Amino acid sequence: MADIGPHHHPEADLLLDYAAGKTSQAGSVLVATHLALCPTCRREVRDYESLGGLLMETTPPESLSDGALSAVLARLDDSIDEAEDLPRPMQPLDPETVRLVPEPLRSFLSAGIDALPWKTRGIGVREAMLDIGDPAVRTSLVRIAPGGRVLSHTHGDVEHTLVLKGAYSDGIGRYARGDVCVATPEIDHTPVADMSEECLCLIVVEGGLKFTGPFSRLLNPLMPR
Ligand SMILES: [Zn+2]
Repeated sequence: MADIGPHHHPEADLLLDYAAGKTSQAGSVLVATHLALCPTCRREVRDYESLGGLLMETTPPESLSDGALSAVLARLDDSIDEAEDLPRPMQPLDPETVRLVPEPLRSFLSAGIDALPWKTRGIGVREAMLDIGDPAVRTSLVRIAPGGRVLSHTHGDVEHTLVLKGAYSDGIGRYARGDVCVATPEIDHTPVADMSEECLCLIVVEGGLKFTGPFSRLLNPLMPR
């Protein structure tokens, strides 16, 4: 494994689902934003995708009738139309937001980081909900002040955290920019931000249900073909 880039990655199952276009829209945004920062996972997803392509090629051609093909093409057109409807901020984003937030996540910010509707969640912790077009999946940005502590909690659902700025430790590991922390229901953890700077994270919490969004693949402009 290369010694550059993040040290904590999404679980292999999630990358595999992503490559197959089976992740929720919020899950796709989290994975694709991690990929923007992680050469290791970019390579892994590319390998999964080539494998998927190979499987497609071995499918007997008669299984894809003319009708089926036009249905697929029509769906692709719809997806492209919807992709053009992504929320765009009213004003250009400030350079700090552009520096910290890679695409595709950046396209879902209604404003620069400082201008988002932050709500206090305990001492030194603020949260701004994001609309990723996925009502069943709780998606937000969280800012933890230097040395701030998120109250000890467990999860009824699986929580993925992608660090965008600063770092935090949770007794299990230390997570810095680009790292993904996966917290399952049985994990009881207390994230504490480093003392040196504020920590900014994307948090996606989903239940057992998975939704296939038309965006799953389109959202990722990063994969070299
Ligand atoms: Zn990775």
